[in-house]
Amino acid sequence: MRRFQHYIAGQFADGEARFESLDPATGAAWAEMPEAREADVNSAVEAAHSALYDGPWARMTASERGRLLYRLADLVAENAPVLAELETRDTGKIIRETSAQIAYVASYYRYYAGLADKIEGSFLPIDKPDMDVWLRREPVGVVAMIVPWNSQLFLSAVKIGPALAAGCTLVLKASEDGPAPLLEFARLVKEAGFPEGVVNILTGFGASCGAALTRHPKVAHIAFTGGPEAARRVVANSADNLASTSLELGGKSPFIVFADADLTSAVNAQVAGIFAATGQSCVAGSRLIIERPVKDEFLARLKAKAEAIRIGSPLDMATEVGPLATRRQQEHVDRLVQASVSAGARLVTGGVKPEGPGNYYPPTILDCDGISSLSLTEEFFGPVLSVQSFETEAEALRLANDTRYGLASGVFTQNLARAHRFSRQIRAGVVWLNTYRAVSPIAPFGGYGLSGHGREGGLSAVLDYTRTKTVWLTTSDAPFPDPFVMR
Ligand code: NAD
Repeated sequence: MRRFQHYIAGQFADGEARFESLDPATGAAWAEMPEAREADVNSAVEAAHSALYDGPWARMTASERGRLLYRLADLVAENAPVLAELETRDTGKIIRETSAQIAYVASYYRYYAGLADKIEGSFLPIDKPDMDVWLRREPVGVVAMIVPWNSQLFLSAVKIGPALAAGCTLVLKASEDGPAPLLEFARLVKEAGFPEGVVNILTGFGASCGAALTRHPKVAHIAFTGGPEAARRVVANSADNLASTSLELGGKSPFIVFADADLTSAVNAQVAGIFAATGQSCVAGSRLIIERPVKDEFLARLKAKAEAIRIGSPLDMATEVGPLATRRQQEHVDRLVQASVSAGARLVTGGVKPEGPGNYYPPTILDCDGISSLSLTEEFFGPVLSVQSFETEAEALRLANDTRYGLASGVFTQNLARAHRFSRQIRAGVVWLNTYRAVSPIAPFGGYGLSGHGREGGLSAVLDYTRTKTVWLTTSDAPFPDPFVMR
């Protein structure tokens, strides 16, 4: 079995305990992971705190920080095959996807490397004579980062890149489900030459490791990606240290198709939107909202595509849908599907949990027209699409916005005016018009409502890892006046 270690204060070390990681394709233990509890978390946060204020990192210029980030980007690109294979092995995300995604992750580090020396303060036109006042932009402090199992290298890059560009130090908790790629990534951090303590990477369970980290008095900001339940606990923990939070949570994103849409394009985008990453994607377009006259044709084409998907070993380049990351997730998806069927949803395809090893679940389509069911409100985080139809544009919009989430959305129509109208009226952080799942380091990303707050990606993400300090300087040689006379 492979053994992985934590990376704390520039050293690789075993955790306070260990646990086994299971191969999602077979269910067999394949690696031993270190488990951090309170003591490991304390060591990591103390290391990050010392590095922030006392070490070489504190004295480094912004350009030097940028150079280290460029080096890290190159190392990620060079090591992409190893990282991709580990992510596939430990989480079941198919190798086709991990290979493409990790190659692109390098460009996130490059983008933030370039921004490191473009974070400027400002000089204020203050309303007092003989006074200069300026704002310095300083790193916000030690950042606690928490990520879920899916796309961990990507979800951490959108946090680590801007945090390091801004001069912060950090402790990253990899998900207990599939931490191997991030624990391996720590080797690249060391190789890139970041001073010890700047980046600390560990793993452990939410209730112990995650709680200790998010409550820690020396943590200033928490960057969290995960589900709303854990997010609530994280926010409650932050009542102790009053750390600021950014929350990237789940979704129940609408995928709206009008009868005038290019249906071939829309079918392909819907397949990618719900079955890519075996549906374990925060932006999964999990609610198809389709104009009634094209519903039957669209569903027939979608069913044919879904049934032709190659399901298999995630390590096989030909595989299109692999296993879910954990047995727990497989059971969660099946439970929601069976509850939806009991509530009246019509199974168009899939919906039968396979026997045998591995956490597989078939691409599933539920026709939910005219019923109210969990499948329209709950995030499955699996390959399950729920379908509703509409007659009018107003009805389409009402169905789209009928959710407590608000992460992503897709609209397929050839009517430009309508596309613009929807981009204004949909309550979601991302609207894709005649496309889906496009992301870029240059474009901010984040949600409304239960999908969280804060934006990752783009210029503004760097500023979220800074705070301003206001500096006042008198330019007068006159002595400070009598304190009892106001100026
Ligand atoms: P989860 O919320 O159960 O766990 C996420 C992380 O939080 C894990 O590392 C876990 O250990 C940690 N955690 C759990 N309890 C904690 C606590 N009390 N204190 C501190 N940390 C704690 O999520 P999951 O089931 O692993 O992942 C799936 C969820 O993540 C879905 O809802 C999905 O939509 C969401 N997600 C969102 C985005 C986004 O960018 N918006 C991206 C990917 C995934």
